[in-house]
Amino acid sequence: MEECLFCSIVNKKVPANIVYEDEQVIAFRDINPQAPVHLLIVPKKHIPTIVDLTSEDKDLIGEIYLVAQKLASQESIAQCGFRIVANCNADAGQAVFHIHFHLLGGRKLGWPPG
Ligand code: AMP
Ligand code: ZN
Repeated sequence: MEECLFCSIVNKKVPANIVYEDEQVIAFRDINPQAPVHLLIVPKKHIPTIVDLTSEDKDLIGEIYLVAQKLASQESIAQCGFRIVANCNADAGQAVFHIHFHLLGGRKLGWPPG
């Protein structure tokens, strides 16, 4: 079976600007940034959508938020503020079907999101 784009980044078959990596999680800069800081935090495990999460993934999701916290500090946006976004399926505009968490900051972010 052909692997998805983010599995290819995890497996280093597609290059990315990686800012963080551990056993379970990788984070890299979005190729089409929507804010001065726009990182994607991605579990290495292939899970297509948030709807596919199971209770087995509980710790993994916790880890992702701890990585987000660390990266927000590293990118100097922890104090001024940031947003974590996970798009799920068509109405949210999910384009890559391997779950990922956008970490956005470095400018004032509008609300509600479009
Ligand atoms: P989503 O719409 O939530 O599925 O977001 C997918 C994100 O992946 C978009 O913000 C894209 O700009 C980003 N993206 C697509 N291809 C790459 C890539 N090769 N490297 C980094 N980011 C990418
Ligand atoms: Zn994948």
